[in-house]
Amino acid sequence: MTNPTLLILAGDGIGPEVMAEVRKVIDWYGDKRGLAFDVEEDLVGGCAYDAHGTPLHDDTMARAQEVDAVLLGAVGGPAYDDLDFSVKPERGLLRLRKEMDLFANLRPAQCFDALADFSSLKKDVVSGLDIMIVRELTSGVYFGEPRGIFKEGNERVGVNTQRYTESEIARVARSAFELARKRGGKLCSMEKANVMESGILWRDVVSEVHAKDYSDVELSHMYADAGAMQLTRWPKQFDVIVTDNLFGDLLSDLAAMLTGSLGMLPSASLGAPMANGRPKALYEPVHGSAPDITGQGKANPCACILSFAMALRYSFDEGGEADRLEGAVEKVLADGVRTPDLMQAGEGTPATTTEMGDAVIAALEASL
Ligand code: NAD
Repeated sequence: MTNPTLLILAGDGIGPEVMAEVRKVIDWYGDKRGLAFDVEEDLVGGCAYDAHGTPLHDDTMARAQEVDAVLLGAVGGPAYDDLDFSVKPERGLLRLRKEMDLFANLRPAQCFDALADFSSLKKDVVSGLDIMIVRELTSGVYFGEPRGIFKEGNERVGVNTQRYTESEIARVARSAFELARKRGGKLCSMEKANVMESGILWRDVVSEVHAKDYSDVELSHMYADAGAMQLTRWPKQFDVIVTDNLFGDLLSDLAAMLTGSLGMLPSASLGAPMANGRPKALYEPVHGSAPDITGQGKANPCACILSFAMALRYSFDEGGEADRLEGAVEKVLADGVRTPDLMQAGEGTPATTTEMGDAVIAALEASL
């Protein structure tokens, strides 16, 4: 049997620093768990622009379409701020998402007990929190036509169009129901059916998909503004939330911040199944390239390591090994190992990026 294939695009800034720690984890799985991957590395973002004059070379795009999963670090940085919009580092990432048709963006909001004090909410509100937001990523108001700034009489008018087809809603709903089935068995769908026709259709289609194939999952509907309130009031009432591109953008950031640091937040973007049954998939930390700490050994690699845990679970059907890796991160935090982003001022000696990665490997060893 051939090994599963991974394309690593470490990108810019702290991307290569955090990805180096993920490489250790990948190698550990090959050595100790018989889970070997064929790993290729390539460029994305500013470093690709420096090498090729484009933030994503066509050959890299083609490989991304073929491999079993793509792992991305981060793109961007001040050196590229003045580039033309068409070749900005972020365009490389957007091209990957668009051409791979990654329509379901999975953003977990999980509060590790050792970090509960980092949340802006009370400890009992967030302690033990484990929810998943599924955001539709390739349609809706960010893509709908017509769009633009037009002249209307004597003034300009800015136009964006919220547009969803039934099939676009149904496919992301299915992804969310599948997830809910593997988790706590509850799905809450959020829209604004009270004021938007696209919201009425969203609610209808999610209900139809539920009735047809997922009646074992408990489905509820909520207006997205009420959802935002409930997420801050008592987030533990939710298991999986599915919502559109715009509301998902806001709600997933809100939910993620309930848990504390940007350095801890992974994500997955999934598309349709490939011929081998695995979904097209891109895994990446939520954070950016953090130019303010690049090259200083201060970056927290956990978000990127946890993104690989999501790859184990969603691309490679290795839920047990994903649990092992998440457990290792949890143990390291419980043992008090902290990169600077997880410390209050004057709170002892921080771990470097490499030390944090080594601590995760030690915890993986201890799990055997
Ligand atoms: P950022 O996420 O890079 O950094 C925000 C703050 O969080 C900074 O203080 C940074 O030091 C800190 N931080 C982020 N990740 C961390 C980690 N792993 N460990 C410790 N601290 C961490 O956001 P920004 O500063 O707004 O953007 C910087 C660059 O990254 C910009 O060019 C932006 O366009 C780009 N960006 C890229 C992505 C992506 O690649 N997906 C996402 C967001 C921003």
